[in-house]
Parts: sequence; structure tokens; C-alpha cells
Amino acid sequence: MARAAFIGWRGMVGSVLMDRMTSEKDFAGFEPAFFTTSQVGQKGPRIGLDTPPLKDAYDVKELKAADIIVTCQGSDHTKKVYPKLRKAGWKGYWIDASSAMRMNGDSVIVLDPVNRTVIDKALKKGVKDFIGGNCTVSLMLMGLGGLFHAGLVEWVTSMTYQAASGAGAKNMRELIEQMAFISKSSKKLLDNPASAALDLDRKVLSAMHDDSFPRANFGFPLAGNVLPWIDTAMENGQSREEWKGQAETNKILGTKKPIPVDGLCVRVGAMRCHSQALTFRLKKDVPLDEVTGIIREANDWVRVIENTKEKTLEKLTPAAVTGRLGVPVGRIRKLNLGPRYLTCYTVGDQLLWGAAEPIRRIFRIVLDHIS
Ligand code: NAP
Repeated sequence: MARAAFIGWRGMVGSVLMDRMTSEKDFAGFEPAFFTTSQVGQKGPRIGLDTPPLKDAYDVKELKAADIIVTCQGSDHTKKVYPKLRKAGWKGYWIDASSAMRMNGDSVIVLDPVNRTVIDKALKKGVKDFIGGNCTVSLMLMGLGGLFHAGLVEWVTSMTYQAASGAGAKNMRELIEQMAFISKSSKKLLDNPASAALDLDRKVLSAMHDDSFPRANFGFPLAGNVLPWIDTAMENGQSREEWKGQAETNKILGTKKPIPVDGLCVRVGAMRCHSQALTFRLKKDVPLDEVTGIIREANDWVRVIENTKEKTLEKLTPAAVTGRLGVPVGRIRKLNLGPRYLTCYTVGDQLLWGAAEPIRRIFRIVLDHIS
């Protein structure tokens, strides 16, 4: 029976992965072992099975016993452990949620509803490293992959509205702490229905600038604010998050001639759903109903939302999408710029299709491949 090692299972992505694997009854047909960097000997996750005590996630000898290693531990761990494993002669499959190996020449970025053929070809060729993509890129392709597969995209620009969870669990907490701080400091004014909105506004602003305002993780207020920079700076003026758009989209799709993808990535005060406003320049003028059909038919999870105020506000928001695997795409229309300019808006849970779900599914695919 194949042996699989799980590292980083108790983090945010890892625990969503464990939940999804448990509810899909994925813990069958292989022997699991769980690893940790900080809790060796303690109990593993609750998956409805007895599992041995946690092993050391730096112990190459223990890890080497696995045919498949699935890690949601993060780039630092990958960079430390992966080279040692390969150097020690390990020939197994490495499945990783972190970005450390995404752009390596011999790795594949996994998003099987979009690039199953790329994955199958790679498995046949003997590729062993399968890496989860950037959440924003994966969510764009889950929603709009149909247009790329139909060969319709000349270029696309993506303006994002990204949730706190993309920055990690501490940042999610901090967003709510910031909201609580603001609401506490403005409570008196809020409690008085006769108070002026501009007095409330001044109170909120002074709370945001207060020295004790919780900002250790974001560095700035996110509650009541938007932050138009995510990740580090590239030399060309892009942020690294923006750079990933083109690099990862083309790698996922396996394009020969890269399709230009660019835009601005912005952090907003949503908890775990990323939203994106997209503008496509199509290679030709395709009627709107045809384009909509292509988007709708691309995979089992994309949901086209009627372009009405009611349906949009009901179904195309983080509050509506959180915790769901469906990826709604709405506001689909041609822009005044010309008949080849298409706009749309999409929202996705970045811990599901943006992180854990592609990892869950590639695990099953690899397991089937070696079984
Ligand atoms: P995380 O929540 O910080 O968890 C990473 C590790 O931190 C855990 O596996 C755990 O390892 C340790 N940890 C320490 N204190 C913990 C606590 N109180 N609760 C839970 N875990 C704790 O990291 P993550 O956000 O899941 O991200 C993991 C990797 O996935 C990163 O490389 C990230 O870039 C990538 N990724 C993240 C997202 C996202 O939305 N967050 C999306 C796509 C990819 P031990 O058990 O060994 O202590």
C-alpha cells in the first residue's frame, strides 16, 4: 500500500485540506503519516482513523519512507527539507501548497479542472513535483479558464480585491481586531442616533491613527481602508503578486507563446474570498451569449451569474461565496471600448480552490497513478 506523509496539516491551508479530505472520504487506499515542526509525539488530526503520533517534519529518514509527501507547511520548510530528501535519493512525489518550487523548470502548477492534460503529460514523463498555484491566479482560471482554452484571449488585465486570509491566519485576526478597535472607539457616537456622520468619520480616522491601533501584521489599517500593494516589489514596478499573474497563468496552461496578464493587486477587508474585476481583449468579436456559454461550460464549478443588480449582490460577493467550491462569474458584458473588450467579475474562496482543493485533487491523481 502506498505511504503518504502530511506536513503542515494544522495550519490554515492544511486544516482546510484535512476537512476536505475527510468529507470526501479521501483517507482510504493508502497509509497516512503526519508530521510537525513543533509538536513531535503529539496526536495527529482527527480524520476518523487511528494515526501514529506526530513525526518530525525535518527528519529526512522518516520522510523518505513516503511515496507521496503533501506539504502545506510553507516555503521555508520546503527549501530546507526538499533538497536534502532528493540528495538522499528519495524518488517520491512532492505535493506542495507553498510557492517555493512553483516556477522550477521541472515542476507543474496544479489546477486539474483547468490543466489536467498538462498534469497527465507530466506524470507520464516522470515529473515528481506538483505545486499549488497562487490563489488569485487559480481562482481566475477556475472562473475564466474557458476563454483561455477556446483560444480567445489576446490579453487580460486583472484588478483584484484580495482577502486578509491570503496574508495568513494572524492577518485575518488582525482585520477583526481592527474592526473591534474602531467600533469600540466610536461606540458613544454610534449609540447616539443624533450624532453627525462626519463626527463619526473623524472618530474612526483618529482610531486608525492611534498608536495602539492593532497593525503589527499588515503594518496599516485594513478595516475601513484598502491597501494597493501585496507582497514584495519587482524591478519593473509590479508587486510580486502582480508578477505571478502572467508567470503562473501561462505555466498552468502550458502556453507556448505567453498570453499577457497584468493588473493591480489590492488587499481589502474581506476575510477569505478574493474578488477580481477582469478586462479581456478577445482575439475576435464573439457574441456575448457565445462567450457566456464558453465560460459556463468550462468546468463543474464555474457559475455564471446573471448581470442584474439583485443576482450580483446576492451571489457575487465574499459573503455569498465563503466556504463554497462554486466559482461565480458575473457582470459579464462588452465594454464601450469596442466589441473585443469583455469585462467580468469573479469571486472565489481562496482557501478552497485558491489553496487546499487543487492539492487534495492532485494527491488523488498521483495516488491513482502509482496504485
Ligand atoms: P499557517 O496557517 O501559518 O500554518 C503553517 C504551520 O504553522 C502549521 O502547519 C503549523 O506547523 C504552524 N503553526 C504554528 N502555530 C500554529 C497554530 N496556532 N495553529 C496552526 N498552525 C500553527 O500557514 P498557511 O496560511 O496554511 O500557509 C501554508 C503554506 O501555504 C504557505 O506556504 C502559504 O504561502 C501557502 N498558501 C497559503 C494560502 C493562504 O491562503 N493562506 C494560499 C495558497 C498557498 P507545525 O504543526 O509544524 O507547528
